[in-house]
Amino acid sequence: MGNIVAIVGRPNVGKSTFFNRLIQRREAIVDSVSGVTRDRHYGKSEWNGKNFSLIDTGGYVLGSDDVFESEIDKQVELAIDEADAIIFMVDVEAGITGMDEDVANLLRKQKKPVLLVVNKVDNSKRLENAVEFYNLGLGNYFPIASTNGSGTGELLDKLVEILPEVEYEEETELPRFAVVGRPNAGKSSFINALIGEDRYIVTDVAGTTRDSIDTKYNRFGFEFNLVDTAGIRRKSKVKEDLEFYSVMRSVRAIENCDVCLIVLDATRGFDGQVQNIFWLAQRNRKGIVILVNKWDLVDKETNTLKEYEQKIRREIEPFTDVPMVFISVLNKQRIFKAIETAVEVFKNRSKKIKTSELNDVMLPIIESYPPPAWKGKYVKIKFCMQLPTPQPQFAFFCNLPQYVREPYKRYLENKLREEFDFTGVPISVYFRKK
Ligand code: GDP
Ligand code: GDP
Repeated sequence: MGNIVAIVGRPNVGKSTFFNRLIQRREAIVDSVSGVTRDRHYGKSEWNGKNFSLIDTGGYVLGSDDVFESEIDKQVELAIDEADAIIFMVDVEAGITGMDEDVANLLRKQKKPVLLVVNKVDNSKRLENAVEFYNLGLGNYFPIASTNGSGTGELLDKLVEILPEVEYEEETELPRFAVVGRPNAGKSSFINALIGEDRYIVTDVAGTTRDSIDTKYNRFGFEFNLVDTAGIRRKSKVKEDLEFYSVMRSVRAIENCDVCLIVLDATRGFDGQVQNIFWLAQRNRKGIVILVNKWDLVDKETNTLKEYEQKIRREIEPFTDVPMVFISVLNKQRIFKAIETAVEVFKNRSKKIKTSELNDVMLPIIESYPPPAWKGKYVKIKFCMQLPTPQPQFAFFCNLPQYVREPYKRYLENKLREEFDFTGVPISVYFRKK
């Protein structure tokens, strides 16, 4: 759980250069390995021990240089609605443009903290020129050069200072299930169906974050908080059909949950927008259940369900060990099955395997199929353990960790899944020197 920082500004001021500098390199590497390189506009960053998510809103809303004012407005409006702090980037080379003034006007009218960042300040002449940006009426500015990183330290010091303190959740807190998906998938109907029928609802609790509407839910011995993103969306006036909106709306809910219930409309399928949400959940190492809703609208033949399921599994490769429940909220079909499945996934995600049991199972598997030699080097795995992290991570100790290749890593992951059941849960496998 962390804060969200949005970068806004017109095209070519250097937003993506800045973004790339800040997001964690380690993550970029992990992603390229797993083949997930879909999203260049959302990433995690850390400064002085404070974590935050960074979103380059321009990268989503603005496709080209040829931008209309209305698009900039949308970008800024969205940042104002969703972010905890806003970085407004301008370009000293170009000076103040009309579009910069428009953005500044929007930002002055609202209350979120804004940091004005003057980019491309590569030399002392430009440092002098930067003073003109006082005219935007946003107070002090931070001169930086994204290409070489100068000035970014001061900027980040200030940024983490103004970010609200994040409350860390107690281990004992209830599981948090986020219901996410594109607009009209049936999220609010799903939640209403659960809540409307249920007399065990305890109370509406104020969300721990500004926007999320948590409902405490108790049924069949399950107790959890439902995090409703559908409710959040109603608040804003911006149009809903752009891909980015539902993704960005989901960011906070996903980051704050244990399990994501990704609701999709069976008549639309697992389209790009849903894929982005899936990817976001996977990358945040959250439990995932896919709910294929409106199943009542699909013409069914013998293999329809199976084929539908296989099609989705191909889309979510390589992380295919994800439960799918075909539901119809309208006919109240399998909605409790959906919750039951989410509870199972939650349990899988909190599962801790004893080191002795893990080694008893995994060492013979490794012995019968050891890591193939790489560049003439033989890797010997001696020992493994689950790390004490909130989500499953495993360390395999060996003589030459750098010589273990990706396919073998995936092999071990699959074996862990076969032997211990981590359905719906992204797991991490590391190799460490022993
Ligand atoms: P975006 O459209 O706002 O995401 O801008 P980009 O990050 O794509 O940058 C636009 C151009 O500005 C690119 O050619 C960058 O190399 C250049 N640029 C970015 N940061 C700097 C900087 O600090 N100094 C200079 N001189 N050029 C920069
Ligand atoms: P949200 O935007 O994801 O919260 O979606 P809503 O819950 O508002 O639902 C969008 C539309 O889909 C509404 O008209 C619902 O009545 C309809 N809907 C929801 N679930 C089902 C379902 O299982 N079957 C059918 N046929 N329609 C559904």
